[in-house]
Amino acid sequence: MCGIFGVITGKGSAYSSGFLNHSVKTLAHLSESRGKDSSGICLFNSQQKLQEIFKGPVPVSFLLKNNKLKENLNSAFSAKSDFRYAFGHARLVTNGTQLNDENNQPVIKDGIIAIHNGIVVNVNELWVKCPEIKRKYEIDTEVLLSLIRYHLQQNNSLEQSLVLSFNEVFGTVSAAMVFDDMNKFVLATNNGSLYTLHNGKDILFFASEKFMLRQFAKKTNLSEIGSYEINAVKPSEGLIVNLDEFKIIPISLIKTENKQPEELSSEKYPVKVYPVLSNKKQRSTVIDLNYIHLNPDAEKEKAILQYPIDKIKTLKRCSKCLLPETFPFIEYNEKGECNYCKNYKPKNQPKPINDLLKLVEPFRKKDGSPDVIIPFSGGRDSTYVLHVIKKELGLNPVTYTYDWGMVTDLARRNIARICGKLGVENIIVASDIHWKRENIRKNIEAWIKYPALGMIPLFMAGDKYFFYYAHKIKKQLGIDLEIWGINELENTNFKTGFAGLKPQFDKKRIYSLSIQNQLKLFGFVGKNLIQSPGYINQSVFDSLGSFASRYLTPKPNYYHLFDYVQWNEKVIEDTIIQNYDWEKAVDTNSTWRIGDGTASFYNYIYTLVAGFSENDTFRSNQIREGMISREDALRLIYEENKPRYNSIKWYLEIVGLDYETVIKKINNIPRLYNS
Ligand SMILES: [Zn+2]
Repeated sequence: MCGIFGVITGKGSAYSSGFLNHSVKTLAHLSESRGKDSSGICLFNSQQKLQEIFKGPVPVSFLLKNNKLKENLNSAFSAKSDFRYAFGHARLVTNGTQLNDENNQPVIKDGIIAIHNGIVVNVNELWVKCPEIKRKYEIDTEVLLSLIRYHLQQNNSLEQSLVLSFNEVFGTVSAAMVFDDMNKFVLATNNGSLYTLHNGKDILFFASEKFMLRQFAKKTNLSEIGSYEINAVKPSEGLIVNLDEFKIIPISLIKTENKQPEELSSEKYPVKVYPVLSNKKQRSTVIDLNYIHLNPDAEKEKAILQYPIDKIKTLKRCSKCLLPETFPFIEYNEKGECNYCKNYKPKNQPKPINDLLKLVEPFRKKDGSPDVIIPFSGGRDSTYVLHVIKKELGLNPVTYTYDWGMVTDLARRNIARICGKLGVENIIVASDIHWKRENIRKNIEAWIKYPALGMIPLFMAGDKYFFYYAHKIKKQLGIDLEIWGINELENTNFKTGFAGLKPQFDKKRIYSLSIQNQLKLFGFVGKNLIQSPGYINQSVFDSLGSFASRYLTPKPNYYHLFDYVQWNEKVIEDTIIQNYDWEKAVDTNSTWRIGDGTASFYNYIYTLVAGFSENDTFRSNQIREGMISREDALRLIYEENKPRYNSIKWYLEIVGLDYETVIKKINNIPRLYNS
């Protein structure tokens, strides 16, 4: 999931090299917000009839500083008598490590050069299903190119080859591609993450987001291209640009009447690749969580994880819910019921859905543009929310995902499955993942030296920008409505409780704290920063900023679906698995928080040190809501609190910490219960 961009101009157009250069740079910089792991640019060298590719594991802004690229772009853009193009990609690595250049975009396969934003999730099935095509790389994009080439070879038109290939693919694809044997440029998308700006005459620009083209138009003097329009390429549609006449032909990716075999030239454009190397040492961004338990040290490493279930079973627990005696500020009355139960106000009592329908009515857009933004993690709740919003409320949503470096591949695949199937655009905001992960590593190292349970939320600090960016994207897109899938049952009083904050039984929302408690929290964090100076690193400002953005971001026209729709675990799981083949994790039966690499790590610490985790609070809320029996809930938490080796290993590996060292130190933390 990445940013793609480009410019195409027809033969004999008058645009100067300077103008085209400036355009490509501006679009590239705007696209960088979607991914900084690697990048690539393809350009057409008309003098030598050569397709040139520059790519490497570097952010696109770094790539553009490459002197050879500058020189070649200049000369390519100076050849006014021929058609000219350059297109590129800012990549957030999803599969295929960025350190192997064949996995970086543009991808070259079977004479097709393409940039692809999205994930194809049925890659393995497709290679098996079509034995005529051969796999060479790790990257998912490859299979799409091989399929298109295969269908072209079966005497299909280009349109028909695209239709046949797109129909086989499950997941998300927004792509641009060129060929070594025909002068055609393809833009195609199955989920609408693709926009064009063109004058209908001799020039076309494209980008992954409408906002980017608007910004581009602001930053560039476009008077010389005359009047232009910014248009969405709708889900399951595309464009073929006939480069010789600069004719733009809209196409459908669902079916086509065009059965004429494509005329392919026998003379082929050679492709030349220039690798651009990073001057920094890089860690591979991809480690597939699903296969971690197959590594040779897995059994040995698994054995280090402790789960003192016999001791945990002796903890005194509330007679009504499951909260144990180690829970912060817990008190039991003579009947053995806890103060959390006593003060509990039922939450899962939704208002009629008609109320929500009335509320959203004024936000509906008549022109087919998106009317609501859904923050989308790919987790079970946000997936279900997207389903209801699109299928039951009939709204036209845009989803938004904030990737702060801890979004698992599993979550990314699930995002692709659902957005691809529903034809919904997914806007990604990718932070500098390497930097964020380094911050997490430094915070864990500081924490290990003085392991206060109240400081654990700092590991997750980076993700709170979610709120801030949701707000920002709404403004960018001119969308007023925001619907969240936050589930009130996820309320976990204990995280701030361990920081010394008494429970606020009257708080309205999960993500709200009184001013007094906010100050107290800053005080607690401040004290720990002094005690363990390792926290004073580059991440402090990130952490503070993230606390601020979590609590201070304004939230107008902000609704919660579960205020109007009953939260029901079974209904949600059935809906998302049956409709979208939503993928579960390999190391747990639970479907909660599996798209977040952090949860398995902190729940390991809470369980080991305090004898309970988030699972206990979640199931306790379900008991209080009358959704589950205490007996069933207890059985579930004993199972759910089991250490999740794959995820913990993935997490430590990805932030660059030694598994054995960290786990052994955690194992030595004194317990809050008799061990
Ligand atoms: Zn209780």
